[in-house]
Amino acid sequence: MQIFDILVVGGGTAGMTCALVASQNGAKVLVVEKTAQIGGTLHITAGHLSAGGTQRQKSWGIEDSPELHFQDIRRINQDSGDMDLIRLACEEAPKTIDWLDRLGFEFADDSPKILYGHVPYQIPRTHFGKNLGKSILKVILPLFEKQVADGAITLALNQTFLDLILDNNQGQGIITKNTQSIENQLVTNKYYARKIVLASGGYAGNHSFFAQKHPDLSRLITTASPHSLGEGIQVTEKYGAIFHKAENHISTMGGIELNPQSGVSDFWANWAKMSNSVDRKAYEIYVNEEGKRFLDENEANPDIRERALAHQPNRRCWVILDEEILQTAGSIVYQWNIEQFKTEAQKGRAVWQAESLAELATKIGVLPNNLLTTIENYNQAVDNQLDIEFKRVFLPAKIQKPPFYAVLTYAFSLISFGGLKVNSELKVVRQNGQTFENLYAIGEILGAGATSGNAFCGGMLLTPALSLGRYLGKKLADEVL
Ligand SMILES: Cc1cc2nc3c(=O)[nH]c(=O)nc-3n(C[C@H](O)[C@H](O)[C@H](O)COP(=O)(O)OP(=O)(O)OC[C@H]3O[C@@H](n4cnc5c(N)ncnc54)[C@H](O)[C@@H]3O)c2cc1C
Repeated sequence: MQIFDILVVGGGTAGMTCALVASQNGAKVLVVEKTAQIGGTLHITAGHLSAGGTQRQKSWGIEDSPELHFQDIRRINQDSGDMDLIRLACEEAPKTIDWLDRLGFEFADDSPKILYGHVPYQIPRTHFGKNLGKSILKVILPLFEKQVADGAITLALNQTFLDLILDNNQGQGIITKNTQSIENQLVTNKYYARKIVLASGGYAGNHSFFAQKHPDLSRLITTASPHSLGEGIQVTEKYGAIFHKAENHISTMGGIELNPQSGVSDFWANWAKMSNSVDRKAYEIYVNEEGKRFLDENEANPDIRERALAHQPNRRCWVILDEEILQTAGSIVYQWNIEQFKTEAQKGRAVWQAESLAELATKIGVLPNNLLTTIENYNQAVDNQLDIEFKRVFLPAKIQKPPFYAVLTYAFSLISFGGLKVNSELKVVRQNGQTFENLYAIGEILGAGATSGNAFCGGMLLTPALSLGRYLGKKLADEVL
């Protein structure tokens, strides 16, 4: 029976980084990955990394530090995360960026900068590459592949983590299922190691698990990886691991469910421009299921916008506009031009069009009188340049020229907020307060509610996944050798 030094479950952002660094420091590492490829969410992430005190910042004359980053996060999330974990992640973050820098990471020309999609940091500390998450993959993947070729990392692809093998409550091994097993012919494998690292990601792709963990929320609309199913959490919970911070859940605005009832939206193909009003002023209005407005559509604070939508029935709203607004402001969906928008309106899946507002209301299932009153009030506000109810000041055009359009948008999840509780050594904590001695967790399996809190702190998923991956890889290699 082969016993590896370190077994990493999940070859994504955190797992591949951990395995890479552990193997570079001399450990014999096994990576078990359920898909046929390595990289996980790095293939689709936007790739925004946050760090204070990087060489890149210094070369631009930007004064910053891990402490300033940490304090800025405290301001944004009001101490709602796992603050010890956040402190560790902030301390490791500039080392991660400098490491990527040394590896030849291609920064975008305007990186680092202050971004406004989430509540902005006070200092330009969001670093990103020329090609989103793929810029990160571009520098890490060849190094990882070299370690595999040299035999320092053993890679077991198409292996789904099913169970833990525990000996006196010590994490000793795992059982996996061959993902390519033919139905009813389950092929399982057992792997053993001195240390086990769970890095199998979040659960934002798992509708039933999301419903179980968030019973108060309406159904999940996800843009996460379909492989983010929370399997690592489910297995570990069976043995008494603590799942926490789910109450910190918040979601993003503008998800479009093109295939009704699929519960899926595509972040890169159909996302409405509603997440912030800084990059694009809203000419449209948003109405809920009652046909009523519920916020200043140009509210600049993304947190206020996102929470306003989260309080609407079924966490959804329609963006309402007319032909003139469409021609003036352009398509509300990032990836569609006006022509594509009109094609979708013909299909009536998530966008509808009608010659009158009453007809539009009927098509989308909103009481016609309510929608008519809302538009009447809004048009009056435009005439008077005074929006008494929501104090909107950007009132450029009435909604009056047919055809009229409605776009159904949802609060959606890219990431999951609940996760496994770990101690300061990143060991998984049990309900009885003890830890599983040789079982560790890193990455989104810890939950955004821990590393970001009850707020979207820019970069506080991806950066901790990479940073804690590097940190733990080095630490465990030192311990086993
Ligand atoms: C569209 C999008 C944009 C984002 N943009 C940003 C951003 O700009 N900044 C930011 O900070 N965060 C962002 N995030 C979040 C961030 O990218 C992720 O939280 C992070 O990459 C997760 O890393 P991870 O290693 O925990 O999980 P992953 O990278 O998802 O890796 C997990 C791996 O485990 C494998 N796995 C899962 N279950 C099993 C199992 N049972 N057995 C074996 N293997 C398994 C998966 O196949 C996968 O390869 C974004 C997320 C999305 C979806």
